[in-house]
Amino acid sequence: MAVVISGKELATIRRNKMKEEVIEFGKKYPRLPHLVVILVGDDPGSVSYVTGKGKACVEIGIKNTTIKKPVTITEDELLNLIDELNNDDTVDGILVQLPLPKHINSDLVIKKIDPKKDVDGFHPINVASLYLKQDGIVSCTPKGIIEVLDYANIQIEGRHAVVIGRSNIVGMPVSKLLLDRNATVTICHSKTANLAEITKTADILIAAVGKAKFVKADMVRDGATVIDVGVNRDLETNKLCGDVDFKDVEPKAAYITKVPGGIGPMTITCLMENTLECYLKHMEEK
Ligand code: NAP
Repeated sequence: MAVVISGKELATIRRNKMKEEVIEFGKKYPRLPHLVVILVGDDPGSVSYVTGKGKACVEIGIKNTTIKKPVTITEDELLNLIDELNNDDTVDGILVQLPLPKHINSDLVIKKIDPKKDVDGFHPINVASLYLKQDGIVSCTPKGIIEVLDYANIQIEGRHAVVIGRSNIVGMPVSKLLLDRNATVTICHSKTANLAEITKTADILIAAVGKAKFVKADMVRDGATVIDVGVNRDLETNKLCGDVDFKDVEPKAAYITKVPGGIGPMTITCLMENTLECYLKHMEEK
């Protein structure tokens, strides 16, 4: 039986701590932290993510403004809006909920955000900072994964970490963070040959594939730590599920995360941490 690492439990601990910190910041600085989220269109997934972020802000005491724009907004209009927020001294963090409609170039939009207000850590300057080991904002899901491993006291240094997925938002940055913690890292993707042979050598297996119940017991080493990043819809039950077939893999793993209740709550929590980080730097610049 594996130990189930609860990202939800860790998120509660972190959020309670932030709540207390924000009260103190309110005494020390002229105003509270302020996160602005831009939502384009009404995709149900995006609406639900934005709602979750808003709720977390309320819980912690961060001021939250959600700007809703119709799906017909032009790229120029969106870029101008970001420009205004970049120049607004009462705004500490800006997040544009992705994906954007096809007529808008997401790369341009992300590049427009002031890197100091880029709470998602997606701006090329923040991405480069991660790879150059310089001070910058680290994106939320990879940061949350490392915090979950630390919370469970999983040794990273010297271990073999296998990451399935090489996206810019999960696979690549978490691989770099693991490397920075002295793991030996293997990155797998859709063209990897003999995937199971590789994943079976993992002390720490990170699944960021985007395919429901993709990781089965025969892909996992006895006693491995298995971190499930996936958020998928199980077509049989219509419930949320991860990239790991939990029932199949759990008896073999030593530690495992669940979906929901694993990495998801930590992603939002790290977004709140990043917002506070941007706010503190902003306040200290004054
Ligand atoms: P993505 O951009 O679609 O990347 C998926 C990665 O998986 C790609 O690198 C792809 O390889 C690889 N892959 C696909 N099929 C594969 C296969 N058969 N064998 C090996 N590798 C395969 O997805 P993402 O944005 O990284 O997200 C991954 C999952 O995490 C999704 O379920 C997403 O919803 C979830 N997610 C969760 C959170 C959270 O807060 N919990 C945050 C972000 C994402 P190629 O590069 O070769 O195509």
